[in-house]
Order: sequence, then structure tokens, then C-alpha cells
Amino acid sequence: MLQSLTIDKKKEPGTVAGIDLGSTRIKVVIYNGSSYFARMSDASWDPEKTALELLAETSREAGLSAPPSIIATTGYGRRCLSHATLTFTEIATHAKGAFYLVPECRFVVDIGGQDAKGIRLSSDGRVEDFVMNDKCAAGTGRFLSAMGQALGVPVEDLGAYATGAEPHRINAMCTVFAESEVISLIHQGVSRNAIIAGLHASIARRTASMISSLHPEPLIAFTGGVSQNADIVQRLSEELGHPVIVPHDAVYAGAIGAALLAWEHRSESG
Ligand code: ADP
Repeated sequence: MLQSLTIDKKKEPGTVAGIDLGSTRIKVVIYNGSSYFARMSDASWDPEKTALELLAETSREAGLSAPPSIIATTGYGRRCLSHATLTFTEIATHAKGAFYLVPECRFVVDIGGQDAKGIRLSSDGRVEDFVMNDKCAAGTGRFLSAMGQALGVPVEDLGAYATGAEPHRINAMCTVFAESEVISLIHQGVSRNAIIAGLHASIARRTASMISSLHPEPLIAFTGGVSQNADIVQRLSEELGHPVIVPHDAVYAGAIGAALLAWEHRSESG
């Protein structure tokens, strides 16, 4: 219950929370300096309320008597949470989280609900350079979800439909025009598998082209919700000419990164 959530700065000094307020999902990570506990829920029209409820629930499930007093936010809605004690950019948290999950990684590709980004890392995990598309839905999770809806295929099943299929070329990348093109292809009798493979191929091409100026080198870690689509992972890896690794908990990279940065901040400020 939201009303019962009081953040007591004296309680649970040994944990911090990282919250990624994404455009489609909110993720909470509780970290104690050596391990983490993670949960997510769909975003709502009231991100602050949803985030606080999820924080309270995650804290309870993690066995805490109260939520951590240090709360770091990141993501699209990172400024929505008035209880936040720290706020970090998505680039900083995704880099930190991906490097924690894959310590050998030198490049991070993150595709979430509303943006796509590429981050080049130094061997000790510092951000060297990055690119980001957050101006339009093309090539993002929202684009895929809209196409899945037009095709009657849940977003989590798109990968299986496209695996091994010969892609049908999709020309439009704007979500509205691509939806019309997809509907027209269905009417022409093109198989859903070929259409979905075509959509995935265009996302992989577009992502590879967006990050090409940063010369991505292995190991390349793929994070964010779209990394759960194995067919896109495969096609992106072919476009880049390098293997692409999807770490366990890839969707939590931003929240993990926020929690790790909060932990460092906590240690530095004693
Ligand atoms: P945000 O942080 O912006 O909320 P996420 O990183 O959570 O975004 O990614 C959300 C996107 O991931 C959705 O728009 C959807 O397209 C995609 N997605 C979510 N779950 C899956 C899944 N199981 N398989 C493939 N794609 C998924």
C-alpha cells in the first residue's frame, strides 16, 4: 500500500535501491554491496505511485523491514520520483549495469521501449562515447509492439516467428507508415514470418548503422527489453560481424547500474 510506505533514513543502512522508470516498464533493484534482488512491473499513467508500490513490494520480498533510504533513479521518468535521493542518466546507468553483468564488455547496445543507444566502454568500464536515438519510435520496442499488434502476434513471440525466415523487405521505418505497409503486405499474402523477419532485419540494420561511427568491438552486450528477441540478437550480430551477448537480467541493466552508482555514492559519502 502506498500510504504505508515511509522511507526511514535510519533503517536498512546496508542496502540501496536503483529504479529505472522506463517508458513501458518500471524496474526496481535492491543491492547490498554483493548481490541484488530485482522486480519489474508495467509503467502506468502514475509512474511515481507505481514505482513506490513496486519498491515497497520488492523490499518486502527481499526480506527488508523498510525500503532502502538511498534511492537512485534513472530512465525516461527518472525525475518523477520525489523520494529519489540520486538521479543518473540512462547512459551512465546502462553502461554501469552492463559492465557489471558482462565485465569483459567493451560496447553496450540498449534498445528499450522508446529509445535505442550504443555506448563504447573503456576496459575499466568508463563511458568513452555514446549515440542515442530518442527522437522517434523507429527501431525501438514500441515500434515492435505496434507491429506485433498489427500482425496479431504478442511481442514476446515475434522472435520465434522470424527465426530462420527469409525477410521480406520493409521500406517504411516510421511506425505509422510501417503499420500501413505491414497491413498491405498481409493483404498481398506475404507470410507473417517473412514480414516479422523483415521488421527485425530493418531494426538490426538501423541499429548497426546508428552505432557504426563508434566502431563497436567485442564483447558487445545487448540490454533492454528488445534484447529478449533472439531473432533480432542474431540479425544484429550478423550486421555487426561480431557476436552479441545478452546477459542474464539484461532488462534490469539500467536499474542495476543505478543501484551500483548509489552504492558507490553511499561509500564515498561515508
Ligand atoms: P523501457 O525501459 O523504455 O520501459 P524496456 O527496456 O523495458 O523499455 O523494453 C520494453 C520493450 O521491450 C517493449 O516495448 C517490447 O517491445 C520489448 N519486449 C518486452 N518483453 C519482451 C520479450 N519477452 N521479448 C521480446 N521483446 C520484449
